[in-house]
Amino acid sequence: MTAISLGLDDQLLCPFCGFDYTHIETVRVGARKEDDPVYLIAVEPSTARIEAAYSTEQPPSSRRSWVELIVDCEECPGGSIVIAQHKGQSFVSTRPNLTEAPAAPPF
Ligand SMILES: [Zn+2]
Repeated sequence: MTAISLGLDDQLLCPFCGFDYTHIETVRVGARKEDDPVYLIAVEPSTARIEAAYSTEQPPSSRRSWVELIVDCEECPGGSIVIAQHKGQSFVSTRPNLTEAPAAPPF
């Protein structure tokens, strides 16, 4: 499955399971000129909050900018669609949601 797939009505399909009921929960941007310090900005649509910084252990681009859409899926844990600049090209990739809360204990 490719990072961005569309349904019959051009709705975004989950890049991890293909389900067509997804929600954009957060938009993250790492903005900079080549090799300059990066400005990390996150927008939470549900609260209309803008965070001036967020943590990233592995930035999607080591030298340039990126946009990350956090996709919440109604069928699976979802994850991110990332568009990252690298050497004059823009690459689209996915990252599974690794921060999903663990399942409740069975008791
Ligand atoms: Zn899914």
